[in-house]
Amino acid sequence: MPILPRIGISQCLLGDNVRYDGGHKLDSVLIETLGQQVEWVPVCPEVEIGLGTPREPMHLVGDHHAPRLITLNTRMDHTDAMTRFAQQRVRELEALNLSGFVFKSASPSCGIRQVPLFNTQGIDTHDGVGLFARTLMEHFPEMPVEEESLLHDPQVLKDFLERVFDYRKTR
Ligand code: SF4
Repeated sequence: MPILPRIGISQCLLGDNVRYDGGHKLDSVLIETLGQQVEWVPVCPEVEIGLGTPREPMHLVGDHHAPRLITLNTRMDHTDAMTRFAQQRVRELEALNLSGFVFKSASPSCGIRQVPLFNTQGIDTHDGVGLFARTLMEHFPEMPVEEESLLHDPQVLKDFLERVFDYRKTR
């Protein structure tokens, strides 16, 4: 068991330039607040399936329960690659004894709620779940997970940390 709880994190939140636009989404408040208390385990699903940085952006299309991950302009479908990757990556993460995961909100790969999802009429129903995040949550149904945006609320952050330490005790 590691000394500090290991928390998976969407890698762009750590300030690494892995986003589709070549940039990052460093969350300095979160990193400074939690940085001394946890060991981060970064994951960028889109880079790890072999897409470059920068890359064409993508979004979720179709049904809430089985959406497709499609690029915006060339309509490339990355669903199968992302699904295969996610199933393998969660098994690797299992060996690291993660105690939680912090996801980037609104991402078609990493978001855990209200991710843009376009139906057959092209209307955004805002009820998608990122494909990697979905697989991870199904694989670790008891593991505490949260999006970075909500963790800016001190009470949500406190609750998340308590759940992380409680979960860790059960491992
Ligand atoms: S949201 Fe997820 S897939 Fe997108 S850049 Fe961040 S870590 Fe990578």
